[in-house]
Amino acid sequence: MVQYEMNTQDPNETFQYAARLAGLLQPRDVICLEGDLGAGKTTFTKGLAKGLEIKKTVNSPTFTIIKEYKGRLPLYHMDVYRVSDAFEDLGFDEYFEGDGVTVVEWAHLIEEQLPEERLTIYLYHESLENRKIVFVPQGNRYEQLCKEIFS
Ligand code: ADP
Ligand code: MG
Repeated sequence: MVQYEMNTQDPNETFQYAARLAGLLQPRDVICLEGDLGAGKTTFTKGLAKGLEIKKTVNSPTFTIIKEYKGRLPLYHMDVYRVSDAFEDLGFDEYFEGDGVTVVEWAHLIEEQLPEERLTIYLYHESLENRKIVFVPQGNRYEQLCKEIFS
């Protein structure tokens, strides 16, 4: 499987990087974020939101599984950490097939419900402020997107 790798040295770098990436996103793009607690999934999402010109503050949806924000494109921010049944249908499809960009933190917990084509981004906590970020595209759209990001 093709994958692309980069590093950031502090949270602002992750934020800015995600904000730039947001400029390339299109309706129905699905981005899955994986990594331990504190790896930077929400920081990355906040950067995407900034890049999508979302004015509201994006924070980890602790009690809600899905939050929706208005911007250049709508952002559907899911954190499925608290989904207890991987097969429970919470209407995810409507978001994946909607007009916005969907970001899913802890996506593997609902693996069976994810669209086959998606971009998975793994964040690895290397040291206090160093993160390794690995992009794994599945499907033509995301392979092209990664080529654009890493060109
Ligand atoms: P998650 O959503 O994966 O639990 P958060 O984004 O909420 O992670 O938290 C990441 C924490 O790590 C924040 O406190 C952030 O300031 C810190 N941090 C330190 N270095 C980085 C970095 N390079 N990229 C992202 N976050 C970082
Ligand atoms: Mg989070």
